[in-house]
Amino acid sequence: MPILANDPNRRSWIEVQKNSDFPIQNIPFGVFLTRDDVITIGTRIGDKAIDLGALHQLGYFKDIPLTDDIFLQDTLNDFISDGKKTWRLVRNRIAEIFDKNNPQLRDHAEHRKAVLFDLEEIEMQLPVLIGDYTDFYSSKEHATNVGSMFRDPDNALLPNWLHIPVGYHGRSSTIIPSGHAIHRPVGQTLPAGSETPVFGPSKLVDFELEMAFITTDANHMGESIPVTEAEDYIFGMVLFNDWSARDIQKWEYVPLGPFLAKNFASSISPWIVTLDALEPYRTKGPEQSPQPLPYLQYEGPGSFDINLQVDLSPEGGEAKTITRSNFKYMYWTMAQQLAHHTVNGCKVNSGDMMGSGTISGPTPDSYGSMLELTWKGENPITLADGSERKFIQDGDTVTMKGYCDNGTTRIGFGQVRTKLLPPFSKEKKK
Ligand code: CA
Repeated sequence: MPILANDPNRRSWIEVQKNSDFPIQNIPFGVFLTRDDVITIGTRIGDKAIDLGALHQLGYFKDIPLTDDIFLQDTLNDFISDGKKTWRLVRNRIAEIFDKNNPQLRDHAEHRKAVLFDLEEIEMQLPVLIGDYTDFYSSKEHATNVGSMFRDPDNALLPNWLHIPVGYHGRSSTIIPSGHAIHRPVGQTLPAGSETPVFGPSKLVDFELEMAFITTDANHMGESIPVTEAEDYIFGMVLFNDWSARDIQKWEYVPLGPFLAKNFASSISPWIVTLDALEPYRTKGPEQSPQPLPYLQYEGPGSFDINLQVDLSPEGGEAKTITRSNFKYMYWTMAQQLAHHTVNGCKVNSGDMMGSGTISGPTPDSYGSMLELTWKGENPITLADGSERKFIQDGDTVTMKGYCDNGTTRIGFGQVRTKLLPPFSKEKKK
């Protein structure tokens, strides 16, 4: 079935600004709270949010086999379970409904009023109930930088890295959508030169520039997903800020890996951009040498050209772009990650989320964390107001953005924006 929704020549009767992330070729999926306090599944064109629950009730999807309440839910999990064929039918139909030459909704004032919302009228929610969250470590540049800093520059990559998409199981309970502030975590750290740990606020809070993909029900327990089929089980992608406390991480991570250094917060952009919408931006990833084992071998371009940037703004201050990277730098592809994840029979469900790992590029201005950008704090970054940062300070806001542009069409992810507050303290009641 062709992806008619990607037609670069189509224009919408909804106004779309020139550099909008959300032209009619994007058609992402999200969940929002409306002005009437109703939670609904929706999409977005330009600066209008579209209530898909209302559209469905008004009969605009009647030729597509969907249950009546599929969009009247507070998560996308059931819709994602319907599978790729349905996602594609729905995106294609939405493209038709909002095509500037289609009068059906365009000229129906009453229906438009029920379906369209200004962005100020809605509040974006987490788009899926994330059952399981896995984080990979798939940027060779990031793994090399971290290995150089903490182990040995001559043997920065561990022996398994070029053979396995290395990953670990994270925690989903503290994944939040853009716009929610977080608190600086407290925990155990080992001060330099000391042999006993201390307890207190982390001094080295960092972001990790990542993207994450969201899966559909992919397999039964015991079954694996072949690398050639893995993309059929990927619904779409979001921007992902995997907040990290480097000093807590350094003390706790041996031998089982990160724990409390990572699970206090991770933030995502609220609109899931489908893999279908990203198809025009498909590109080759880095050459893989040595050749991976057969179950990980993938023919053809398996990556996507997605420009990424991180802005840092102090409290009340001006934002500064502190890094620019690209998803295409990832060494392991999403298909390889998912094939590896399930090769032992591990079951993957609708709404599971898989982080890419920090996406660092080849040059120092494309590194994906403060740890690398300041090289452990040795080279502080100067912000627009002249202040310096080695890591993230209380009151700082980190904003990640991502977009694709092939010269014909630009689509994007919007942003994930998170403010870091001082450590949580329970206010004493009088
Ligand atoms: Ca991470």
